[in-house]
Amino acid sequence: MFICQYSEGSWKLPKITKYEPFEVDPSLRVFHYGQAVFEGMKAYKDEEGRTWMFRPMENIKRFNISSKRLDIPSFPEDVFLSALEKLIALEKDWIQKGEGNALYIRPFVIATDNNIMANSSSAYKFMIICSPVQSYYSGSIKVKIEQHYSRSANGGYGYAKASGNYAGQFYPTKIAIEEGFQQIIWTDSEQHEYLEEAGTMNIFFRIHNTLITSPTSDRILDGITRNSIIALAKQKGIKAEERAIKLQEILEAHHKGTLKEIFGTGTAATITPVSTFGYQSNTYDLQEQQDSYANMFKQLITDIQYNRAEDSFGWRY
Ligand code: PMP
Repeated sequence: MFICQYSEGSWKLPKITKYEPFEVDPSLRVFHYGQAVFEGMKAYKDEEGRTWMFRPMENIKRFNISSKRLDIPSFPEDVFLSALEKLIALEKDWIQKGEGNALYIRPFVIATDNNIMANSSSAYKFMIICSPVQSYYSGSIKVKIEQHYSRSANGGYGYAKASGNYAGQFYPTKIAIEEGFQQIIWTDSEQHEYLEEAGTMNIFFRIHNTLITSPTSDRILDGITRNSIIALAKQKGIKAEERAIKLQEILEAHHKGTLKEIFGTGTAATITPVSTFGYQSNTYDLQEQQDSYANMFKQLITDIQYNRAEDSFGWRY
């Protein structure tokens, strides 16, 4: 694991050590006030055994955007990238070849002052840990359109990859699971009228042959997979709209038969198709499409990630 400490206004000399526990004080700030952010990224192996990251600078930039919102000092981008390079070079034998296999990489930063004062810490620990993984979700999922709980709000920090955003999702997600769903589609916090994000994924709707996804905002994480799909759609001549999506519009499109697909996008599973969505006490099924956009985009992205296709955007690293 990679470790770098911050104190007295600067990041100290970083090091890579073996993965092992470390002792901390019970008054550690992060335990009490949740001042922490993280990232989630992957390294992939191609058929020749070479290792690739996917758009790593996007994760690095987003990490510092999240840190700023949580009043955590930014981590120097160049050190971050070389930390990833060195750590992955050491750990690359853990990565299996083949679709779905990857090294999951988890950079994170925590507040480490040893006193329980409710303000920004003056000391931090930045770390990168990693683990071999297979694809996170397999197959399609059932999602619940949430009508009571909210993940984030205007002026909040839903756009940051802050630990507390995830803790707040667990309980509503547990309820959804008890009701027979796997994930929640989060709606806007004011009226629960607009469909915004799903669990740890952004969400896309296909009506006829147009893709629609919510614009990023205070409330929504600016997903790198989301962004890549919008770029790929444009390249393929598929209309991709970033605009507010009314729940009512989706219910009507489902009723008329023009709602072809819903899928979530994120680093964990790239693309996860939705087979059923639940709203109030009703469930709505989606037919599998012959010309599935979810399958097509998954193929296009994974072909770039695993170095099986030309990378016209320069996303592989
Ligand atoms: N939304 C949330 C809340 C997430 O945690 C993630 C995963 N990082 C995403 C969307 C998808 O982002 P990305 O495509 O960058 O993994």
